[in-house]
Amino acid sequence: VSHSSTLPSPSIAAGTVPVIELTGHRQARLAERQTPATGPLLRVETAGVCGTDRHIFDGRLPVALPRALGHEVVGRLERVCDADGITLDGPLEDGVRVVLAPGVPCGECEGCRAQGRCGNRRVYGIDMPGEGLTGGFSPLLSLRPGTHLFQIPEELDFERAVFAETMACVLSGLRKAVGPDRDLADMRSLVLGFGSIGVCAATAVAERHARVAILEHDPRRRDLAREMGFTDVHQTVAAMQQASQVGRREFDLVIDAAGTPRAFAAGVGELDRGGTLLELGNFADFGRAKVSPSAICCRDLRIVGSGETLYEDFSAAVRLVSQTSVELERAVTDVYPFATLEDPNALLADHPTGKAVITFP
Ligand SMILES: [Zn+2]
Ligand SMILES: [Zn+2]
Repeated sequence: VSHSSTLPSPSIAAGTVPVIELTGHRQARLAERQTPATGPLLRVETAGVCGTDRHIFDGRLPVALPRALGHEVVGRLERVCDADGITLDGPLEDGVRVVLAPGVPCGECEGCRAQGRCGNRRVYGIDMPGEGLTGGFSPLLSLRPGTHLFQIPEELDFERAVFAETMACVLSGLRKAVGPDRDLADMRSLVLGFGSIGVCAATAVAERHARVAILEHDPRRRDLAREMGFTDVHQTVAAMQQASQVGRREFDLVIDAAGTPRAFAAGVGELDRGGTLLELGNFADFGRAKVSPSAICCRDLRIVGSGETLYEDFSAAVRLVSQTSVELERAVTDVYPFATLEDPNALLADHPTGKAVITFP
């Protein structure tokens, strides 16, 4: 779906840049913010709309207002120099095409001083302080000291590049759950939910040779999964078990990308003895889940959460989205050119089949 219209684009007044900012509960608008006179910038090419953006829009993740949104950002460096405190795995030069690691260490806390591991990271588009260009739903983003960027190939299509950040989240989760780079050929895996995280999770474990089953309630998303080459796709646990030829199926690795307490509980129930559940979906608090601690104990289950995306997983994520034979680009189902975007509320209230992205000229 292309959401372009024939209306004139929002004018860019001299010295200001249009940004999508949240001003209240389910209230976003196009606003103008000052272009900083100095300092490094990212000229945004593509920004992904994420479940977290929708949680923020719907008030499930409280943020200070007004808030410039957008943390899944692909762009090109502008006005950057060595003294800017920016880390890049390539030449720090204007025009270099990069993906942004949205989390930035505070540089002040005990964790930053002692172990190089910040307990107080700020995330572009979510809780980055300031009234400036702090979000990626804007043609320009101000880069703060401590920002990590990762170079992406010139020939990489934006429909794949936009998944690099989400893929890095998934690879960090897999690193914590089963170890980095581990071949999963001996693993039966189940992915709960085929939103953006589910798309990346299914792709990542398939690339590591795991058998992949997918559970997804939404028929449009089940169709998308099949179009992308996944064949073991089901609507419910019951339907999946019924379709099994061997009676009950159990899994060594369940990845909850559905993000509901019920999905989490169902996932625990589908683990085989010694299995691992990776929780990668409940980024907002939807309440409690009913699980049996006895099952976790007696069946040697492992429950692993992953909220923090580690910088060391971005380069592998860029490689994976570039090279995977899974047609990730099919999962970009809604493209919104920023220049013709009339109402950001429609974009944020929408529940697309796959990923929605904002593109910039
Ligand atoms: Zn995101
Ligand atoms: Zn810190």
